[in-house]
Amino acid sequence: MKSDIEIASQAQMKPIRYIAEKLSLTEDDWEPYGHYKAKLSVDLLEKLSDRPSGKVILTTSINPTPAGEGKSTVTVGLGQALNHLNKKAIIALREPSLGPTMGIKGGAAGGGYAQVIPMDEINLHFTGDIHAITSANNALAAFIDNHIQHGNEMHIDPRRIGWKRVMDINDRALREVVVGLGGPGKGIPRQDGFNITVASELMAILCLAANLQDMKRRIGKIVIGYTYEKQPVNVEQLGFEGALTLLLKDAIKPNLVQTLENTPALIHGGPFANIAHGCNSVMATKLASKLGDYVVTEAGFGADLGAEKFLNIKTRAAGLEPDAVVIVATIRALKMHGGLKKDQLNSQDLEALNKGMENLKKHIETIEQFQLPFIVAVNKFPADTQEEIDFLTKWCEKHSVEVSVVDVFAEGGQGGLDLAGKVVRLCEAKTTSLHYSYELDDPIELKINKIAKKIYGAGGVEFSSKASKQMVQMEQLGYGNLPVCMAKTQYSLSDRPEKLGRPKDFTITVKEFHPSVGAGFIVALTGDVMTMPGLPKYPAALNMDITEEGVIKGLF
Ligand code: ADP
Repeated sequence: MKSDIEIASQAQMKPIRYIAEKLSLTEDDWEPYGHYKAKLSVDLLEKLSDRPSGKVILTTSINPTPAGEGKSTVTVGLGQALNHLNKKAIIALREPSLGPTMGIKGGAAGGGYAQVIPMDEINLHFTGDIHAITSANNALAAFIDNHIQHGNEMHIDPRRIGWKRVMDINDRALREVVVGLGGPGKGIPRQDGFNITVASELMAILCLAANLQDMKRRIGKIVIGYTYEKQPVNVEQLGFEGALTLLLKDAIKPNLVQTLENTPALIHGGPFANIAHGCNSVMATKLASKLGDYVVTEAGFGADLGAEKFLNIKTRAAGLEPDAVVIVATIRALKMHGGLKKDQLNSQDLEALNKGMENLKKHIETIEQFQLPFIVAVNKFPADTQEEIDFLTKWCEKHSVEVSVVDVFAEGGQGGLDLAGKVVRLCEAKTTSLHYSYELDDPIELKINKIAKKIYGAGGVEFSSKASKQMVQMEQLGYGNLPVCMAKTQYSLSDRPEKLGRPKDFTITVKEFHPSVGAGFIVALTGDVMTMPGLPKYPAALNMDITEEGVIKGLF
């Protein structure tokens, strides 16, 4: 089989005008970014507000393993399959970060015959949104240091600045830095650090904002740090919300591209789901629901992270809820949850598969708690045996769980027709409405306990003394009613990445909080999760090249 980049570069792309016309967009509604990408007008959502909304389908998965699950692949393939059934479907995905692209995971444009294109551009700089967020984030950092340099009228305590600099690459050497060295003309020395751009609060704000003015309002509310008197300082007090909004005026416009089968796709915003809220922008998801009858959208990592935050945070901000949830699982990943190593996955092992089913079962129970209709999509890999697939489908039948085996990777939309048909029926038969895991007026400690117990299956939660103090402070400052964005490893239901399957009797440890008041949530950092990841010994970048003829190699 050809590599993803070979398939993508041989695709029959339609000029983006064709895709825009297919969506009945007028000239004012979009602007071309080259031949195959466009930005949609920031006013389009308002213009379409009277239109009825289409059905929203959320794709999630079991806990990811190095074996790969293929959530984006299934999301794209399902959108393509719905179009085969003559449904007007639009895909809504996140923008890939260069961190994973150059690092270990690879891109985020789907795979095989279920990809969004131009995949090289989408995976690299795309329309520059992530770079714009980096610039705006770092502009704010510069404004803060400049304010301190010129007299520090606000009494900002340099030891209590929470606003970090960012860059969109995994660079562990920048996690902790000292800035302002070199004497009085070069700033006030203080300890600082870098996060990856996709963990920036500005990324979360762009993804949760209803429109440009709402983005500006939220930017104004960002708490950058505290004064010597321990009072919060926000961006509005410093007066920079206008400039920062200006820097993001194009980044807030959703990007339109297409799939290999010319299905429209909106790709916009890209927070990670382990250290941020993990969902594409509210504006893109809502726009897709106004432009199509079905939106297939994805939340990052497993249902314990991306889906939990989609359902408890994004739906509240956006005023929408999914009509159906697709839980993606692979035989390979389940066998890893059952104890196998990555190099043992190519031979049949029903015992390991049976053991690994515990992980899927937990995520099924989680989606059941949200009271949403769901289906398990088995993303077929070449090494899966028929016996293994039968085992998984029979398990689902025995537990009265809807299931569909998909092969969109090898067949494109054609390989997802069964899934698409079942998803349509689920959406039409939906009678229940979304049941949140916690109430906004629950105290912060209770919210986290509810997430840990209901979603992770934890026995309880421990708070470090720093976290306990911060919790009291945040309640006092009036942030207690915000939802909580958990920062936790994606690999395990627990906060320890090595605990695969369905760990039991474990405790979640909250080490520290960070109020993202502009985004509208409180980040709770658990375990050893890092907001600036590192690169592996052999980064994916080592395989990448571009030839004299301009042929791209090794982009998966
Ligand atoms: P996720 O969204 O869960 O992170 P992706 O859809 O990005 O996963 O897929 C991860 C990698 O696995 C990609 O390189 C993709 O090409 C590959 N992949 C996905 N599904 C399959 C499949 N059925 N067979 C082979 N490779 C696959």
